Amino acid sequence: MSATIQGKIKEVTATSNPIIKDIKALALKKNRDREGLFLAEGLKLATDAMEAGWRLRTLIHGKKALEDNNLRDKVQALAIQARALGGDVLIVSDKILTSITRRDNAQMVVSVLEQRFTTPTDIKPVANDCWLALDRVRDPGNLGTIIRTADCLGAKGVILVGETTDPFALEAVRATMGSLFHVPLVRMSEEAFVGFAEKWREDFKGHVTGTHLKGAIDHRSIDYTNSPQLLLMGNEQQGLTDDLASACDRLALISMAGQADSLNLAVATGIMLFEARRHAL
Ligand code: SAM
Repeated sequence: MSATIQGKIKEVTATSNPIIKDIKALALKKNRDREGLFLAEGLKLATDAMEAGWRLRTLIHGKKALEDNNLRDKVQALAIQARALGGDVLIVSDKILTSITRRDNAQMVVSVLEQRFTTPTDIKPVANDCWLALDRVRDPGNLGTIIRTADCLGAKGVILVGETTDPFALEAVRATMGSLFHVPLVRMSEEAFVGFAEKWREDFKGHVTGTHLKGAIDHRSIDYTNSPQLLLMGNEQQGLTDDLASACDRLALISMAGQADSLNLAVATGIMLFEARRHAL
């Protein structure tokens, strides 16, 4: 085991500084993918990430935080923790913080963290464990909200099926409110998911429930307590593909009144998860 080398501390004043340029580049998915890094805003997310064992590369904080009586102690304690874990600390101006997060009134703290995905073979459900799968989720706000809801309701993890929005996009990370650090994320192609659903039934003796506007079963009438549960939600615009719907052993409908065609994806997920986890709450 090698000892951790304490991170460096540095003050940066120019937005043109190459370190700041690299950090700002993480606004783009291609750069996040290449570097395996992402940005998280705020003191809470930096604290949650480190406490949950996620690797923090750089903690950036505003110089002004050191002049604020309410913030100074917290930010300094966070900086000490980050450096002890090997992360660097950058002290920057408000202008630089705004340019990194691309919004006015930026948070005083931003962290650069290493991305983390769980591999499909690490999914080993027991009893009535519940996992959630999302078909081609497009909206980062929906994805972040769903990850937060999965955390709140005790789902074991979220499977991203097909081409999805990036869970490490700033907007998605924001919407998770820190749940990102507690909910394992797995990626799979549609084809791989069809095989995984088969394995779920055969190896884990579980059930796969798709949610569908043409579902024949009322979502409240299903027994979610006697086996591992895999819940599959459809894409915001198109719903589930035919192949994914066929991979499910049942299709559930959430009853609706009124004139709307469907529920928002994140709302439908909350309703399904609440029902599937009702016995445990
Ligand atoms: N036009 C899409 C369609 O035809 O499926 C609407 C998709 S809806 C906005 C997004 C997803 O939320 C659906 O694929 C389904 O998984 C879930 N959903 C929304 N309302 C639902 C309902 N009433 N019953 C079951 N699932 C629902």
